[in-house]
Amino acid sequence: MNCYIHVPFCRSKCGYCAFYSEANAENGVVERYLDKLEKDVKESQILYPQTIYIGGGTPTLLSVAQLKRLFGIISGCWRPNADCEISIECNPETLTPEKAELLRSFVTRISLGIQSFDPALRKTLGRNCSQSAIIEAVKLIQTQKFDHFNCDLIYGIPGQTLEMWRSDIGQAVKCGIDHISCYSLTPEEQSVLGGTFLIDDDSAVSMYEAAQQELEKHSINRYEISNYAAAGAECRHNVNVWRGGKLAAFGPSGAGFDGVTRSINSDNIRNWLDGELSEKDTLIPEARCREIFAVNLRTVSGWNRSLWQQNAVSWDEMREIFRTAMESIPERFYIINEDSVRLTPDGLLYWNDIAERVIL
Ligand code: SF4
Repeated sequence: MNCYIHVPFCRSKCGYCAFYSEANAENGVVERYLDKLEKDVKESQILYPQTIYIGGGTPTLLSVAQLKRLFGIISGCWRPNADCEISIECNPETLTPEKAELLRSFVTRISLGIQSFDPALRKTLGRNCSQSAIIEAVKLIQTQKFDHFNCDLIYGIPGQTLEMWRSDIGQAVKCGIDHISCYSLTPEEQSVLGGTFLIDDDSAVSMYEAAQQELEKHSINRYEISNYAAAGAECRHNVNVWRGGKLAAFGPSGAGFDGVTRSINSDNIRNWLDGELSEKDTLIPEARCREIFAVNLRTVSGWNRSLWQQNAVSWDEMREIFRTAMESIPERFYIINEDSVRLTPDGLLYWNDIAERVIL
């Protein structure tokens, strides 16, 4: 089982973000959140999680005492074994030496939300974080020597040139990362920036291509549309989820999958605290298989026969469904063999269109 814990608190809301979080949560709400989380984790009947991902929101907005309690809840109920990947998302402005040391004692992977090293671009994004906070956070992470260090960057920001993007990537590499997530700016409708500017597709494609060119010089390679890693530094939690692995989700707005049914927790912390039940969505087996198949096509390696273990639809049937879906798609966008199926680098750019053809 892969476990996701959503920590729904942020210092302020970034302009592009549609993840559920509360800025300036009222007094006592974090403690009530931890009380409810403890109850849910205790009732989960999970013993040996394969991976644990603590995301948000901003998990590191919690105080040292609150983080200690969060880690105590996890280790008191679950028995992550030595090779369990434990990730946490962190925003630079919330990291202190004490928190960094505490995180290092519990997690194997830290993910730093930088978005851009350029202050003007961060301002455009509505990302409230100073340059000195980034420098200090990177130093703390380097000092603690986490097993794995990811940073998130955004490209396609209005005013961002290709050279500025290459510079952002270069600075990230210098921080000592072994994983990087590069997201194209696509503000969700509900976000502050949603609908406020037109995305320049051509420059976004140039930046997508530049990311791979710059990163491969440092042996950090794309393994999913938006994710790049040094060998062995791929995020196992995400890889498992893309392949349709079981996911238990905790916290408001957390989305899970038990192998048959998808569930999503209330994205209102008051309702979640009051015990509102999660929404369930059970797909027919073929639809579920198609969806899982489409999601993992985002990866560079795609699918192969031995990976495909979804019993409802056999590998040969699923491969045929894919072949039919791709009939009017240029052959340079995909590679299909007897035992494997994947999109080419050009095909990954059209993943949305291709996924629509695969999903029922
Ligand atoms: S991007 Fe991260 S820090 Fe910004 S509002 Fe969203 S969850 Fe919070």
